[in-house]
Amino acid sequence: MSEQQALSQIYLDANATTPVLPKAAKAALSTMETMFGNPSSSHISGLQAKQIMDETRRKAVQVLGAGSGQVIFTSGATEGIQTGILSALCAAKGKMHAHKQYSILYGATEHKAVPESLKHWNKVLEIDAQIKAIPVDEKGTLDYDFIAKEVPNALMICTMAVNNETGVYQDLSALEMVIRGHNADVFWMVDCVQALGKRGLELANTSIDYAPFSGHKLYAPKGIGFVYIREGAPFTPFIAGGGQEGGLRSGTENLPGLAALNVIFDELLDNGDGVFANAGQLQLFRSQLALALKNAFPTVVFNHDFANSVPTTLNFAIPGFSSKEIMDLFDAANLRVSSGSACSSKVTRSFVLDAMGLPAWQSESAIRMSFGPAVTQQQIDQACDRIHHCAQALGHSCLLNATGNIDEKTQLQGLVQFKVGGSCSWLYADPVTKTAVIIDPLPELSNRLLTILQCQQLQLVAAIDTHGHADHQSGRIALAKAHLDNQHADYLGWPVETTEVEIAQRRFAAISIGDKYLVRIATPGHTEDSISLVLCDKDKLLSGALDVSYVFCGDLVLMGSLGRTNFSTSDAKQMYQSLQSLAQLVGDQSLLCPSHDYHNEFVTNFKAESSRNSLLNDVLNGAVTVEQFVERKVELDKNINDQTGEEIMCGAFTGSCTKKHLQEYNGSELKEKLQRDSQVKLIDIREPHEYALNHDQEFDMNVPLTRLTDFICQQQHNKSQELILVCRSGSRSQVAANALARLGFDNVGHLKGGYALCQSS
Ligand code: PLP
Repeated sequence: MSEQQALSQIYLDANATTPVLPKAAKAALSTMETMFGNPSSSHISGLQAKQIMDETRRKAVQVLGAGSGQVIFTSGATEGIQTGILSALCAAKGKMHAHKQYSILYGATEHKAVPESLKHWNKVLEIDAQIKAIPVDEKGTLDYDFIAKEVPNALMICTMAVNNETGVYQDLSALEMVIRGHNADVFWMVDCVQALGKRGLELANTSIDYAPFSGHKLYAPKGIGFVYIREGAPFTPFIAGGGQEGGLRSGTENLPGLAALNVIFDELLDNGDGVFANAGQLQLFRSQLALALKNAFPTVVFNHDFANSVPTTLNFAIPGFSSKEIMDLFDAANLRVSSGSACSSKVTRSFVLDAMGLPAWQSESAIRMSFGPAVTQQQIDQACDRIHHCAQALGHSCLLNATGNIDEKTQLQGLVQFKVGGSCSWLYADPVTKTAVIIDPLPELSNRLLTILQCQQLQLVAAIDTHGHADHQSGRIALAKAHLDNQHADYLGWPVETTEVEIAQRRFAAISIGDKYLVRIATPGHTEDSISLVLCDKDKLLSGALDVSYVFCGDLVLMGSLGRTNFSTSDAKQMYQSLQSLAQLVGDQSLLCPSHDYHNEFVTNFKAESSRNSLLNDVLNGAVTVEQFVERKVELDKNINDQTGEEIMCGAFTGSCTKKHLQEYNGSELKEKLQRDSQVKLIDIREPHEYALNHDQEFDMNVPLTRLTDFICQQQHNKSQELILVCRSGSRSQVAANALARLGFDNVGHLKGGYALCQSS
């Protein structure tokens, strides 16, 4: 283990959940081991249990300022939300007039538990109200005019006290004036989950009808929560049964959870050990973290206004980096943060920031750092140190322009693949001549590519598009402006001044890059102007042999498909010829690097493609005529629209993504394997900056996904070498292992579940 790996985690994801306060855990444990009675039993054990429950409820009433309102214990906030919505809608149903259209309102930035539950109960109870999202402004504040207009017709309105992604709070008094000013009777639920311990609540002084809370967001265990019900607000039990909670919520009470909550309430009521920092201290912690972020990442943008946010949440974006990249980076530094909300972390953008009208990049790059009131100065100091190290690591891998000599950084050599969605850009660097060529540059990558060139002190020889892209703008112009000012090139970026080389008695234009030639081969079909670029060994070519490293084939051959030929400048007949002539020239083993990778397969070759793409196979074997190819291609391209997501697909998927069998290891199996077998190569598949921050000494090498194609090229002649790939969560290692297996590497395995499952926090 490296020194850094031994660092314990700094947990800054309190809005997702918190650890249980040691004293609360102790209290919970004692109700499991000694005071374990059922509060409904009338013997002494039961009475003792009931006393804990009653005392906890008394304290809850005090903490919430619930007055004569009721507090019912639940399993968590989602149950509290059901309770509020079910109660309100059952009561509202009884008051509805036939043929009148009603609405139900909720804040556009509400936790998904609210709108999803509204939809559910609206349907189940056959209410058929129109469910409408209340817009928010750029600060996340609810639109009062919208409420004023819509609330007279509403059965229920749901708002939140504090947003879980941004920490933005609503002014509940101002909101109440608008709501009650326009509808005195509408049922009002306020999700107070993220407000507990961070905002003062005097619920009985408000006309809020229902307010759900959750224990695990404030140092109690998961599985305990509570809901406030205003005195006189209608109530329908969500769970019926043994009549616990005065018949309002049946089921034997969660005594360990209640005992833990009891301890938390003591802290909130200042009767505890004083482990919760006060508001002023929390503000200082936020300022310290914000400053550390600004120092480390000078271009950082905060996605919310600190003035109307609780001090325990920071939501930010770093230009040029996706949420996933920053999450992976911070995770490698054992700094736990979240992208958007934890419950929907597969989603690559934040609906909350979208609702606030923030630019798409901010939403796609959003990172949330959140802490609870029990955070310590030492934890914040350590977090700031790690933020600094994270930036240094990005500088080390040239993704940030950090100070430091090139010699201190890993010299880039060979091929790097960059991806934005399903599109790819390729950079090839020659370390000896310190030159580079970029193929199919995407505009989103301009800054990243420019930073790499500058940081690596590479001279750009050319930035070339393989064709005029219909689905996106080229990023070529920005690169050319910065690096190729004096170069005359055609509109695809191919330099006017080139050399000529001869391959198979045909002459082609080529440019020189280190010990390689980049040879241009016209491969029209997808578009009239499509070219393929073949990177091959210079000396060998001069002596008559073609030794190909890579073929940048644009959209001629895509992984699992052929480029579409239904554009106005497409020609399927030409594609037929292009496929045959390119395959003849480069053979079936050369690595094909297309300009799209829709299924995370990285790279391919004619052999792998023709084994799963029958049309391509038929073309290469001469089993179809040009006319038959054109006919089949027309049919194939008809499927393209069906597959269209956000991006324009450049080829219809024809092949299968069937995965080869992979050897999967768990942590102990891997350990055993490594002890048993010294021949196996262990490869860390994370990005270099993650690797630099934290890696196990046992690794033979670091091959990030961006460098997988380069690795495949280097390893082509040793495909039976046993490889075991490892990453953070087991997902990148699986994807990479599949890609290798598909290209004939027949001894590849990976660590299922990744580092995460082997590491203790
Ligand atoms: N509401 C908000 C604002 C939340 O942040 C969460 C949890 O993320 C919930 C509701 C759901 O809470 P629970 O996990 O207790 O069901």
